[in-house]
Amino acid sequence: MSIHRASFSALGLLVFAIAGCGNAPDESDTAIVETSEAVRGTCLADPPFEGDARKIFQINDHLTAFYDGRNTDRISPEPNWVDDAANKLGVATYAIHQGNQAIVFDTFPTIAQADWQRSTLESMGITQFTVVTSHWHNDHIAGNEVYADSEILMTALGNQILHDLEDDIEAGTTFFGPPAINPLVFPTRTYTGSKVLQVGNIRVELHQINIHSPDETVIFLPDDRILLSGDTTEDTETFMVEYADLQIHARNLKEMRRWKFKTILPNHGDPDVIEAGGYDKKFIDATIEYITNMVEGASKPNFLNEPLETFTGKYMRQPHCTVSLFEPYRDVHEFNKQGVFPVWGNP
Ligand SMILES: [Zn+2]
Repeated sequence: MSIHRASFSALGLLVFAIAGCGNAPDESDTAIVETSEAVRGTCLADPPFEGDARKIFQINDHLTAFYDGRNTDRISPEPNWVDDAANKLGVATYAIHQGNQAIVFDTFPTIAQADWQRSTLESMGITQFTVVTSHWHNDHIAGNEVYADSEILMTALGNQILHDLEDDIEAGTTFFGPPAINPLVFPTRTYTGSKVLQVGNIRVELHQINIHSPDETVIFLPDDRILLSGDTTEDTETFMVEYADLQIHARNLKEMRRWKFKTILPNHGDPDVIEAGGYDKKFIDATIEYITNMVEGASKPNFLNEPLETFTGKYMRQPHCTVSLFEPYRDVHEFNKQGVFPVWGNP
């Protein structure tokens, strides 16, 4: 995890702007000092960069991570979910493999990225694929078309949601907006609760858990003590969609934390941390802290003006740096506040 002291001053200005202090000239000197004090302790991820972002990380001999995003490339200058809700924030997918078999955990936001993922695995001698889809959101299902000849597995609830939203997803008119995913490729098999799969002699446990999305699947690899956490945890902070369920999410995160894993690999995280092997369980604590503070903070004055740092507790501050600030995640926080306020704020 990198700390970039050079960007403190630019970041300070942004925090200053978001905090709304810029309109009070007679107090500005004090405000700037306070802001830079607060920012000095913030853990910072590498900023967005220009150029190719695709990376492959060999986590161990049977677990491969694919990473793309956090660069300045866009598919369109217009706002769209591929750029603004996925690639800009960074996307990781995973393959658990042995011999000619692989379980692929999510297939990227675009066909081109899924093609890259599949052809890489084929070059490793893999011919038999099972896709496990973590949940129904666009950035996790769009590449499934590349695996239309393979088994695709997700929760029965996720499958039902996809069927309910089929027309809108294929038209690009869900709340994610454009681009459309057309054709939408449905799962070939569903499960509810838990399911055990096997790749060679590797035991792969799927668990449905209502965190982030009610149809969410996480994958537990008991022999590796690794959790592939889907979107239940994100670095910098969780992308909130199911606002009314936030307290359920916090409870289920506490439950999930008791499982016997040591390492967490998310679908949206810091590539440096994923390359180094993943996050520890404090990542879950950081997520609970943000959710809890957002729910409790929604009824306090000035909630809609409060920056991300108000809600992340110690976890985004040195020396903890459990999560680190990736600047585009400030937009996610603004989006989260707009959704949380009507549900948890005082009417
Ligand atoms: Zn996602």
